Amino acid sequence: MNKAAKTAKELKEFYGRTPKTANFAVMSLIVGIIIDKLNEVNLSELPRLRATDRVNSPTEAYANVPDRRLRTAPAATVEGVTNVLDLNIRLLERELKREEIKRRTAAEWRLIERSYIRHADYTLPDFYDDFKTRIERGQATWADYREERRKWRRCENRWCLNVFPVDRDHFKKGEIKARNKHAKFCSSTCRTEHFKALKQYERTAEMYDNPTYLPQSEIDAELELETSINDAISRRELPFEHEHLIALENGSMKVESFAPTDDEVNGEVYECVTYNLNDLTDEEIREKGLEKYAKKRSTVML
Ligand SMILES: [Zn+2]
Repeated sequence: MNKAAKTAKELKEFYGRTPKTANFAVMSLIVGIIIDKLNEVNLSELPRLRATDRVNSPTEAYANVPDRRLRTAPAATVEGVTNVLDLNIRLLERELKREEIKRRTAAEWRLIERSYIRHADYTLPDFYDDFKTRIERGQATWADYREERRKWRRCENRWCLNVFPVDRDHFKKGEIKARNKHAKFCSSTCRTEHFKALKQYERTAEMYDNPTYLPQSEIDAELELETSINDAISRRELPFEHEHLIALENGSMKVESFAPTDDEVNGEVYECVTYNLNDLTDEEIREKGLEKYAKKRSTVML
C-alpha cells in the first residue's frame, strides 16, 4: 500500500464520522489535521472512481460517476479522501452556524420570527377586501365596517395572522364559526402554539445570548447538513438501470413497474447502499452481516 492510500485509510478511520463531541474548537483542530496530513502525501497515487458504462471517452468516465457512488467511495480513492475532508468542513461550518445562533441579537431573532408564519387562512386584509366589496356593491357603508370590525379579533398566536369572529351576528355567518367572546385564539392549535412559544422563549434564554420564540425544530433545521438532507432524499429514491430507461423510452416498459415497494424503500437491503454503510468500520460491517454489500462496493470501484 502506498503512503497516500495508508493516510487516506487512516483519515477515514479517525475522521470519517461525526465526532461525539463536535464543537467549534474540536472541528477546527480536526480540519487542520486533515489538511496537514493531505499535504504530506502525493494524492495522485490514489485511484479515481470511473464510470463503467455510458462512457465515450476517458474524461467522460470520470465525469459520469453516479452521485451515490461518489458519496460512498472507498477510503483509498481521491473521492474517498475528499469525502472525509468535505464532511469535516461541513461539520466545521455547522459549528460556526451554531456559534452564530448562540450570539444572535434580539433584533435578529425578531426579524427571523416575523417570517415564520404558520396560519394565514383569513387575515385582516382578507376581511378588509371582503367588506370593501360589500360597500362597493352598496350593501354596506364604512360605518358598518367599523361596527363589523369590532366583532372580529386578531389571533394572539404570534405565528398566526388570522382574524376570527367573536360575535355570532357577523357578515361571514355560515362560512366562519364565531368563537366565544373571550377567545384569544382562532383555534386550539393556535392556543397550543402560543404557550409552546412562551416556553421556548424561557428555555432559550438559558441557551443563547438572546432568547427566541422560534420552535426548536426551526433552529435545528438551520444546522442540518446538506449531506444529511441528500441522504434523506436518496433513501427514498431508487435508481433506474440504463436498459430500463431505454425500455421506457421505446415504450416496451411502463413507469408503473418501477414503483418501489415498501420493502424496497424501508428494507434493510436498500439501506445498505446509503452513505451510512461507508461510515461503519470493517468490524461493524462484519457485526451487522453486511460484508457482501461492502465487497460489492469495492469491486465496483476497480
Ligand atoms: Zn390563530
